[in-house]
Amino acid sequence: MPPANLPKDRLRLAIQKSGRLSTDSLDLLKACGIKVKSPKEKLLLHADNFPLDLLFVRDDDIPQLVMDGVCDLGIVGQNVLEESALERGTTSAYVVERTLDFGGCRLAIALPEERPYTGLKDLAGLRIATSYPQLTKRYFAQQGVPAEIVTLSGSVEIAPRLGLADVICDLVSSGSTLEANKLRAVETIFKSTAALIRNARPLNPEKAHAFDIVLRRLDGVQKAAGTKYIMLHAPRANLTEIRKLLPGSENPTILPLAGDDSKVALHAVCAEDVFWETMDALKQAGASSILVLPIEKMML
Ligand code: ATP
Ligand code: ZN
Repeated sequence: MPPANLPKDRLRLAIQKSGRLSTDSLDLLKACGIKVKSPKEKLLLHADNFPLDLLFVRDDDIPQLVMDGVCDLGIVGQNVLEESALERGTTSAYVVERTLDFGGCRLAIALPEERPYTGLKDLAGLRIATSYPQLTKRYFAQQGVPAEIVTLSGSVEIAPRLGLADVICDLVSSGSTLEANKLRAVETIFKSTAALIRNARPLNPEKAHAFDIVLRRLDGVQKAAGTKYIMLHAPRANLTEIRKLLPGSENPTILPLAGDDSKVALHAVCAEDVFWETMDALKQAGASSILVLPIEKMML
């Protein structure tokens, strides 16, 4: 049962208090039109203009807060979520509502640079330091390679130098931390981004209504993210060719150009980014006055 003091009509969302996901989580809420005044000074904050309260916590606590129903929603890395679900032995207490386009990283096995590597079997019987024992254990079991897991809560990358472990399994995004510690990644065991999760029990009607709005806005923001609005002038004669060059666009608007019958103005929403190469090709095909604009929000 969810705790009795949970408000009946306000959604409660857990986000990371400070760390790699905090700014992006708050920015996403802002893009969805949900305003919070002075984040991070308090543990719990009420949104001014939306029936939603924010709980600022450590990311590791978010899966449990949502699974236990202390919060209706959470934004957390799928790595942390999956680790927590494996530890709990169930994935039925939460639903992943949306995967998000931030917090991208991978959980990778990394070895000291000088250690030779031909394949996973080279790691049989070695000690592997990680903060993700469940994910690591599962991977090695699936691969049929025996390994000894050494669980550390942080600074995993220095474990080989300290003699605590032979290799590590840690989160990597750019790889610069590994490089600085003279390690090299050899296998990726889990790819992750942040996700919006919900407690698996159905929300009451008030909260369900508010959550539908959140999801609709979030989809609008995510859809707009990779999308561009393109405007150009095109010779009528080359219109078919030019339309073929526009990435992921359907049914552009074609407008006459005042004082020039040989050309038209073309406006289109492109579902993919428009690169310089595309613009060069458009130019070659006779397009001129090409403008590419970002789209902030989108609702179809
Ligand atoms: P907390 O104090 O909340 O426990 P933390 O130190 O455990 O913070 P962060 O380092 O802020 O966590 O990372 C939070 C999440 O960001 C990770 O679980 C992961 O999903 C994501 N992430 C993205 N890139 C990286 C990276 N290079 N290293 C670690 N995490 C990353
Ligand atoms: Zn953490």
